[in-house]
Amino acid sequence: MKKDYYEILGVGRSADKDEIKKAYRKLALKYHPDKNPDNKDAEDHFKEVNEAYEVLSNDDKRRRYDQFGHAGVGSSAASGGGAGAYGAGGADFSDIFSAFNDMFGGAGGGRGRGGFEDAFGGGGRRSRASAGIQGTDLKIRLKLTLEEIAKGVEKTLKIKKQVPCKECNGSGSKTGATETCPTCHGTGEVRQASKTMFGQFVNIAACPSCGGEGRIVKDRCPACYGEGIKQGEVRVKVTVPAGVQDNNYLTLRGQGNSGPRGGAAGDLVVVIEEKPHEFFVRNGDDVIYSLAVSFPDLVLGTKVEVPTLDGAIKMTIPPSTQPETMLRITGHGIGHLRGSGRGDQYVKVNVFVPKDLAQSDKELLKGLRKSPGISPEAHGTGTEKSFFEKMKDIIG
Ligand SMILES: [Zn+2]
Ligand SMILES: [Zn+2]
Repeated sequence: MKKDYYEILGVGRSADKDEIKKAYRKLALKYHPDKNPDNKDAEDHFKEVNEAYEVLSNDDKRRRYDQFGHAGVGSSAASGGGAGAYGAGGADFSDIFSAFNDMFGGAGGGRGRGGFEDAFGGGGRRSRASAGIQGTDLKIRLKLTLEEIAKGVEKTLKIKKQVPCKECNGSGSKTGATETCPTCHGTGEVRQASKTMFGQFVNIAACPSCGGEGRIVKDRCPACYGEGIKQGEVRVKVTVPAGVQDNNYLTLRGQGNSGPRGGAAGDLVVVIEEKPHEFFVRNGDDVIYSLAVSFPDLVLGTKVEVPTLDGAIKMTIPPSTQPETMLRITGHGIGHLRGSGRGDQYVKVNVFVPKDLAQSDKELLKGLRKSPGISPEAHGTGTEKSFFEKMKDIIG
């Protein structure tokens, strides 16, 4: 036999709304699971009180209850199911919660879970109820060329992500109606006591029925199965500053997956990936270009055209340039991520040694080889000679 709702709240059948609300607040505080950890009796009372309040605070339900008793308001709700039997326009819980908040000094805004204040926690609870469950973050990789990285770039990305359902405007309901979650009675939390050798622990978890929202959707939208979100595609503009590196990331707040049923969107995290360049090797904010130059050009000097991140430019190879020399082209490197200006381009000069040479060219080289001025010894800087001299010094 189910208890009478008026009895549960300890009010007369003629009690007015204020009286009912006051009685409910008193009892809900008394039996709240946070005040009575691992107390099955209190938990049952708490559920009873919530159920009674949900009916008696609603004019329509109260009228039906007065007329038909529990049958009039779908008494199966007591077991946690069948809440659908309740009519539209559930109890005004947000009002109650704000009242609780007043009682606790209006702190609100707490984000942690499990505290007594948080369970009812005016600001936090209410904003969560209206903001719903937050959408998840989304991570994408963005491949950029060195040219794009050098100067910074604006990209428009096509992103597949969860967007609000158009059919139900993201509410998840055909009619936009919600009702208090029958599993957690609007608290958004469920508790499980576990016994261990160290004593009892109460685990507090988000309610599985409503995902912690405290309310569930009525008249589920068939297009999104009540989720309020659907897979969609959007275009997102990303401004990448100059000087980014591999695995740097940009966080675009609120551009991730939309939250279910109007919940705030998560973030979009754009991870930078640098495409390998055909010509350049990056070294911090500088770039290195390897240039092969013929032996006569190294000796006599010449003008060459080299690629840069800004297009080809002409540069001078001075006479007597040694292999491995780094020639600098100022300001044609990568833009500095912090501060202004750009790094430099270095041209690493190498001597070009042909692999197959025409016989006539070989004859020219043979002639050159005989010339006394061409050997290192003639210049007193021969590496071979000094090497042998050093060896003699060592061996003695
Ligand atoms: Zn719930
Ligand atoms: Zn929908």
